[in-house]
Amino acid sequence: MSSHNVQSSDDAIDPVANLASITAEIESALKEANRAPGSVAITAVSKFHEAARIRPALEAGHKVFGENRVQEAMAKWPALKADFPGVELRLIGPLQTNKVKEAVATFDVIESLDRPKLARALAAEMEKQGRRLKLYIQVNTGEEPQKAGIPPAEVPAFYAQCRDEFGLDIDGLMCIPPAEDDPAPHFALLAKMAKNLGLAGLSMGMSGDYLLAAQLGATHVRIGTAIFGARPVP
Ligand SMILES: *Cc1c(COP(=O)(O)O)cnc(C)c1O
Repeated sequence: MSSHNVQSSDDAIDPVANLASITAEIESALKEANRAPGSVAITAVSKFHEAARIRPALEAGHKVFGENRVQEAMAKWPALKADFPGVELRLIGPLQTNKVKEAVATFDVIESLDRPKLARALAAEMEKQGRRLKLYIQVNTGEEPQKAGIPPAEVPAFYAQCRDEFGLDIDGLMCIPPAEDDPAPHFALLAKMAKNLGLAGLSMGMSGDYLLAAQLGATHVRIGTAIFGARPVP
């Protein structure tokens, strides 16, 4: 569990200070786990927050951000990206095939690849736009019927299809464990699956469990609340 304090008063939130303290916590977790320093990137999840709240983190040099809605990202990020070159924007929410065009134009990484129809549409659109995004397969480690993601047993075949049939660059795996479960076995399963497939990227861990995820092999932790404070209601 994170020892990080999420401040409740909106004005008291300092995303830059939060990023610094979270980075320090992660680095000591990495050291304890005998992992290399700097081997976890923080995806600062800025969904529902307006550009003015995101800018200080960009000004401080943070480069990796996550959004979960294509429409919202299209409204906020083209201007921010123009001002801050080198940003990597990651889509961490579900993607409908009718938004693939906008998603390919707006994002650099898509973490929610979860079905063949989407893989096919992404391959065609990336070819059209001449942009090659990095992709993560979302794995439904809890096999929850209502949750997106490929069931663990089907991941090897889906990965092979993405690579061989659609020619996609699959960088890694992503999971969102069931809210009521201990996340540790889910993180361990995802890490084991990625290792078996020879995939380097592991996106796992959020505000409540990023240190555990860092210990268990995450390369990207997706942190919103602990950086930016509670999200405004959209
Ligand atoms: C919103 C979101 C996060 C960030 O959640 P926090 O608990 O605020 O850190 C991480 N991952 C996904 C997929 C999300 O949608």
